[in-house]
Amino acid sequence: MREPEQPSDPEMIPCIVCFKEIPVSEVLSEEAVDYVLHFCGLECYAKWKSQNDAG
Ligand SMILES: [Zn+2]
Repeated sequence: MREPEQPSDPEMIPCIVCFKEIPVSEVLSEEAVDYVLHFCGLECYAKWKSQNDAG
């Protein structure tokens, strides 16, 4: 019996808040003016948002 082979490693992207690497398919992105930010999940997104709220 053989385990099904894993597909080749997905592309990993570091979360800009906690620096955890997440597969590109699961990343949350926020498009900024000149670049795209990546988050591992809503928690980090909310954290970043609260730190970057212009106000
Ligand atoms: Zn994160």
